[in-house]
Amino acid sequence: MITGCCLCGSVQYELRGDPINTVMCFCNNCRKSTGSIGMANSWYSKKASATPSFVGAFKITKGAGALRTYKDHATDSGGTVERSFCSNCGSPMIAENRSKFPDAVIVTYGTMELETGKMWKPELEFFCKRKADWLETPVETVKFHEL
Ligand SMILES: [Zn+2]
Ligand SMILES: [Zn+2]
Repeated sequence: MITGCCLCGSVQYELRGDPINTVMCFCNNCRKSTGSIGMANSWYSKKASATPSFVGAFKITKGAGALRTYKDHATDSGGTVERSFCSNCGSPMIAENRSKFPDAVIVTYGTMELETGKMWKPELEFFCKRKADWLETPVETVKFHEL
């Protein structure tokens, strides 16, 4: 199990099972929304529940009411991405693309606790044309895993 929380700790979550995809996205909107070189994230299924109390593999265990959602319509890929963040500290936490990937919840790697999420590494990179040229690709490009 992986646990995670935002910077201030208001919003906490748990993840069960393995992610479907682990991604570094360098699109402009992920750069803007994180204020960094891109967004590192893991994709989890909303379908098959890991345990009966979970919605798929993801569960908010504290502070769901503190989440705010920005509907990001101007994406490089087309569809709307709903980006949810802690309204107290601003940490980006989850993203959802309901039209393109209705069964996926995309969880930011930076909010995962290092003790539980330390094995994370990207298997995919998106929008590499916007990637900083000094940044190496540590792994070979792996096929996208369908949901
Ligand atoms: Zn917070
Ligand atoms: Zn992106």
